[in-house]
Amino acid sequence: MARTATKKVNRIIKKSLPKKTKTLPRGNKAVKKKIVSEPILMQPPRGMRDILPAEQDYWNRVRMVLDKEYPKYGFGRIDIPAVEFANLFVRSIGEGTDVIDKEMYSFLTKGKDKVALRPEMTAGIARAYIQHGMNVLSKPIKLFSIGPVYRYDRPQEGRYREHFQANFDIFGEEDAVLDAQMIQLAHRIMLNLGIKEVQFQINSIGCPSCRKEYLDMLVSYFESKKKKLCKTCKSRLKTNPLRILDCKEDKCVQVSATAPQTVDHLCEGCRNHFKNLLEYLDELELPYAINPQLVRGLDYYTRTVFEIWSVGEEGKRKSLGGGGRYDKLVESLGGEPTPAIGFALGLDRLIMEMKRIKAKSYESPKPRIFIAQLGNLAKKKSLKLFANLEKEGILLAESFGRGSLKSQLRTANKLGVEMTIIIGQKEALDETVIIKNMVTGTQETIPQEKVLNAVKKILKNKPMVIKKRKVTNK
Ligand SMILES: [Zn+2]
Ligand SMILES: [Zn+2]
Repeated sequence: MARTATKKVNRIIKKSLPKKTKTLPRGNKAVKKKIVSEPILMQPPRGMRDILPAEQDYWNRVRMVLDKEYPKYGFGRIDIPAVEFANLFVRSIGEGTDVIDKEMYSFLTKGKDKVALRPEMTAGIARAYIQHGMNVLSKPIKLFSIGPVYRYDRPQEGRYREHFQANFDIFGEEDAVLDAQMIQLAHRIMLNLGIKEVQFQINSIGCPSCRKEYLDMLVSYFESKKKKLCKTCKSRLKTNPLRILDCKEDKCVQVSATAPQTVDHLCEGCRNHFKNLLEYLDELELPYAINPQLVRGLDYYTRTVFEIWSVGEEGKRKSLGGGGRYDKLVESLGGEPTPAIGFALGLDRLIMEMKRIKAKSYESPKPRIFIAQLGNLAKKKSLKLFANLEKEGILLAESFGRGSLKSQLRTANKLGVEMTIIIGQKEALDETVIIKNMVTGTQETIPQEKVLNAVKKILKNKPMVIKKRKVTNK
């Protein structure tokens, strides 16, 4: 329905505009003029969307769970810009990856800086880690972040060009126990969101020294089957052969199935690391499976990579997030050698999954008192009363518009409040208020200065007063 409404609005706007503007000469001014004269479409760019109040209960639940969990595991929050210099991403994520070659929003600023909207958060966080000298802090350093990321991707269900991520990164420790702890944390968040059917897909893609040998072997294997690969993979053979392993094209899947696997070609250090991780995961009894095809799309990963898959809906598997180790990233960006591991959760996907399995959303506290008013003086008094009661931590509703008393009481009823405080013209002059019990319908008039005590007394019988407001949003 929303779509047809938008179409209609757009049609009306288009109609009201002058027929096709003449072709304009080139140049900045002309371009600007042209942009101004183009019709405004009543929709955001493709792949982006509004998240309306009605949907926020799910988002609030997710934010609440994240806010509760990250401090427990010793993470500190960090916020980084949505825009960074483009080469930060190119250097960390790597040329030849889809993210850099196809999906990154990069542009020149007016000052001729080449910048990009962040396609993921880890690169920016690693940049911040180096810039602020966090290496001198006691290790491991744990950072949590949440916000939008941007990818010029083909929009599809649960995949948006602007989507939201929660990001967990740990710097300064290479022990596999941290890898296990990250997976445990991700699992715990899933459970707290009510998503119980998950499985972790785990793989080790080795370190630069063992990977080189493996890649040579992989390339010669794929070269021998080159004819059977899709067009993209044929070019990946030169740019990023590892990515062929997670190509979704049927023919490539078939070729990949018999390709040499990273786990069989790890150096001793990497093999032990992976073995330790699996032992920890067994100890924690976490649901996991080794997936030799899992490589993740970014260059900076070393050793452990993992994804969180929701299982259900007859075998249809969705990735809700993932991550891995990036032991060389900080060093490659100019910092001192710093092993690190991180993972991101796709919040849009999580919420889609929560809706699918009908998980509980956040229930916002309901107001239990309504303030109704009539006349200018009454409105002034009500505004003051609202502020006074709100200061006491009492959750209220009102309708300070021009509605009649009757319609205000109807609103109060709809909200299901238990008490309405009415200030009419007479009450405003007499400095009194009417307190109406919405359940029994009885009402009494009391002096204005006694309202607070009266309200508190009534509320005391039931736990109606909510605690002093805490800022939990974000
Ligand atoms: Zn290795
Ligand atoms: Zn392919």
